[in-house]
Amino acid sequence: MPELVEDEIKRYVETDGSNCLFCAGDKLHLGKLRGGTGVTFRDITCLGCGETWREIFHLAEIQYPARADFAEVERP
Ligand SMILES: [Zn+2]
Repeated sequence: MPELVEDEIKRYVETDGSNCLFCAGDKLHLGKLRGGTGVTFRDITCLGCGETWREIFHLAEIQYPARADFAEVERP
């Protein structure tokens, strides 16, 4: 199992997980979102190299009122 360094994980998060952590390929299978109280996660599989990993999501912010164009707004 290849090891990950912190910089690789940081870059992955900053690019919204658009490329494989191991081979940089962009053909990723995104598993179904699952979770419980306080945490949501999904498993990712790279269709290029076959590696798998888990993305873990935490509630980061509340927007009120919710804006319809939120997905089109760039993050700060
Ligand atoms: Zn890969």
